[in-house]
Amino acid sequence: MRPIRSERRVEVVHDPWRGAPRMIASSSVDHALTDQGAVVSTHQSSRAALVCGCVGHPPGGYCGVCTNPSAPVCARCFRFCALCLKPLCPRHSVVINPANPAHVLCGECAQARARHRAVAGMFRWILSPFVEFDRDARS
Ligand SMILES: [Zn+2]
Ligand SMILES: [Zn+2]
Ligand SMILES: [Zn+2]
Repeated sequence: MRPIRSERRVEVVHDPWRGAPRMIASSSVDHALTDQGAVVSTHQSSRAALVCGCVGHPPGGYCGVCTNPSAPVCARCFRFCALCLKPLCPRHSVVINPANPAHVLCGECAQARARHRAVAGMFRWILSPFVEFDRDARS
């Protein structure tokens, strides 16, 4: 068989974090001539693997935390941080309330929230004797 013509189509989306177009799907057609003079066409289409591990779902977006996001997150797994609205993949989303797994935070916001809670708790603990004393003096 002698190849006579081939076509390749690439579908790209613009990735704002790396500032570069990224391939999400491609297809190609190869035409070849057999020894008998017939034209044989081979069509092939492929999609990039999704970063969440899902296959067959349409892409939903790119995770803003993955330092080298090689692939988009599928539309079903794609989430936004409830506080800073950063787009997230399942690996980088922190579920705050297991009863509501769709409500997630990014790692940074989850850490800031935990730190804020710890500091607030410590202040309450430090101030509690004075508050108690104040109440006792007044009564
Ligand atoms: Zn990620
Ligand atoms: Zn997925
Ligand atoms: Zn966040």
